[in-house]
Amino acid sequence: MTTDVTIIGAGLGGLTLARVLHVHGIPATVYEAEPSPAARSQGGMLDIHDYNGQLALETADLMDEFRGLILEGRQAMRVLDPDGTVLFEKDDDGTGGRPEVQRGELRQILLDSLPAGTVRWGHKVRSTRTLGEGRHEVSFADGTTVATNLLVGADGAWSRVRPLLSAAAPEYTGKSVVETYLFDADTRHPAAAKTVGGGSMIALTPGREIFAHRERGDTLHAYVGLSEPQDWFAAIDFADAAAATARIAQEFDGWAPELTALITDGDTAPVLRPLYALPTGHRWDRVPGVTLLGDAAHLSAPNGEGANLAMLDGAELGKALATHRHDIEAAVTEYEQAMFPRSNEAAIFEGAEAHGTDSDNNTAHDLIAAFTRHERSQ
Ligand SMILES: Cc1cc2nc3c(=O)[nH]c(=O)nc-3n(C[C@H](O)[C@H](O)[C@H](O)COP(=O)(O)OP(=O)(O)OC[C@H]3O[C@@H](n4cnc5c(N)ncnc54)[C@H](O)[C@@H]3O)c2cc1C
Repeated sequence: MTTDVTIIGAGLGGLTLARVLHVHGIPATVYEAEPSPAARSQGGMLDIHDYNGQLALETADLMDEFRGLILEGRQAMRVLDPDGTVLFEKDDDGTGGRPEVQRGELRQILLDSLPAGTVRWGHKVRSTRTLGEGRHEVSFADGTTVATNLLVGADGAWSRVRPLLSAAAPEYTGKSVVETYLFDADTRHPAAAKTVGGGSMIALTPGREIFAHRERGDTLHAYVGLSEPQDWFAAIDFADAAAATARIAQEFDGWAPELTALITDGDTAPVLRPLYALPTGHRWDRVPGVTLLGDAAHLSAPNGEGANLAMLDGAELGKALATHRHDIEAAVTEYEQAMFPRSNEAAIFEGAEAHGTDSDNNTAHDLIAAFTRHERSQ
């Protein structure tokens, strides 16, 4: 390999790739739009699965660091009826294969594992173009450019690298989530804290759901899901936090107060996140010198797998490049042939069911059936 691998995006996928390349002595440069590692809150907890995310961390030689981040007890899970009745409950007995960590802390161990200067912050890609013979040029918003023999788009949902490979664009899934945070919940929001329990909790009816989990300390983080078109949300002024909160809470009228408290008692302004997805089975024909990983390649509605898959993509591409050190095309072909079917596989367990990606058809009882099916298959 004559030049650095050029990676666009310092998310979990791009950083895992950079780390695995570094482990194998292959230089890489990561160009990231954000001005610094602390530019945006990396809030949120991720469960890192033993069948994808943890495999990536093993390949990255970061399992010890990862184990140090695990939040004990957070794999506990409960399903509630909207009236607050607990329908299903599973404790965290320490044997689960999907420990929870804070996303920002996971990103930090990846950043800390890279040589200084690997990530070039404040480099927002404006456009990309083919130079021929497998080479590509990347233009940044500040007017600078780089040319590269291998360009990897790890730049998420709205990838600027993807147009080199595919005309596909993310489409609205028909559902958005509204995020809230409740701080010092055990003392300041005890009813909500008790309802969420030690790990995560979901209550749902067709088209409406409240998913919440306990982050580090006693912070509760809730995702309030509503299956509505984007026009419906556009009619709500999210700049007016109190009015937006009241409007969203109205949709959960009649639900138990300890559940609606996750909406009404938020300590931060509610944040609207419309959920987009690329077409299922998105793929492309091989184009020399460029590929995609993570959300840039296979954005789907949140199903508990996206970050795990992005990391596995990064690790697998890194391994393939190390194996075929002098044959970029052989490496990328091998990576893509395994990545396409992998990212297309149905999410299991905490996949579509638990996060209610298909809320219209998804009731608590279907969810419990899915959980118990999973338990029986273990
Ligand atoms: C509400 C919600 C909840 C989720 N929960 C989970 C979960 O529990 N478990 C799970 O596994 N997944 C979850 N996901 C999915 C997960 O967040 C993504 O799949 C994952 O972050 C994808 O990683 P990535 O590295 O591909 O992209 P990203 O994390 O999106 O990183 C892309 C990076 O590229 C940078 N970038 C973007 N554009 C440019 C540009 N033009 N120039 C330079 N840099 C650029 C961005 O700033 C960013 O740093 C959730 C998603 C959402 C929306």
